[in-house]
Amino acid sequence: MLESLKGIEVLVGREPEKGNILLCINYNDVQKTPSLGPANCVPKSVSRCVPQENSAHCKIVFDENGKIYVKNLKDQNVTFVDDHEVLSMCVDLNSNICLGKEKFVLPLERIIEVTLKYVGEIRAMQTMSVSHLEKVWSEYESECERITKTMQKRNKMRMIPMLIGGLSAVAIPVTNYLLPVPKWATIVISLISLVAIIKVFCSKDTSMEERKKAKDKLISNYVCPNPSCKHFLGEVPYKILKQNKKCQYCGAPWKLDLKLK
Ligand SMILES: [Zn+2]
Repeated sequence: MLESLKGIEVLVGREPEKGNILLCINYNDVQKTPSLGPANCVPKSVSRCVPQENSAHCKIVFDENGKIYVKNLKDQNVTFVDDHEVLSMCVDLNSNICLGKEKFVLPLERIIEVTLKYVGEIRAMQTMSVSHLEKVWSEYESECERITKTMQKRNKMRMIPMLIGGLSAVAIPVTNYLLPVPKWATIVISLISLVAIIKVFCSKDTSMEERKKAKDKLISNYVCPNPSCKHFLGEVPYKILKQNKKCQYCGAPWKLDLKLK
């Protein structure tokens, strides 16, 4: 049972308007905020739970090793676990958490029961979130841009020896006519342009390989987040992709805005 809660954090506090208990269940970027109990059942000494500000009275942490911790969140708050005032404490399933100086009792079992109700939904939203694909796409795009720029630069470099060769072919006979150029100078100029031509043409063009590498990376990472689909989503910019709102291969709906109430 607790296996599915690993990595989840629950903020606990007073619901600011209704005055009952508000839980804010967090897993990575996904959040659910159920409230418990009748209105105004929680004393004022219990701090408010405000998910947007990440503030609350205390926090329950279900860590990766299966341990459960209760952490008091503010100096002015008072949190008890089975009559002991605590700042941070590892607790067991039967612990009673008491909030504020009036010791408002909130059994840990109750928090777990509510959290378990939402955990499936939270994990599903997690896997269907496509927001991480924005980064994958932008990395691909900038890599392509870099490759194109390098290729353009290379093509320009190719022009230089040809220009030198062409210019000297015209300039040498002309200057020779006006002012005799020594033979060795003609030979040196021709040699320089020949070497430059050879050097540029022999340098390896890696743009095709780089492009293939970038595409392969895109194919393996730019995929549907549904674990049973994982289909490559094509060379479609993220901006256009997210307009689809669902996978065209498996039909799974995608979550773009994860901060749901
Ligand atoms: Zn899919």
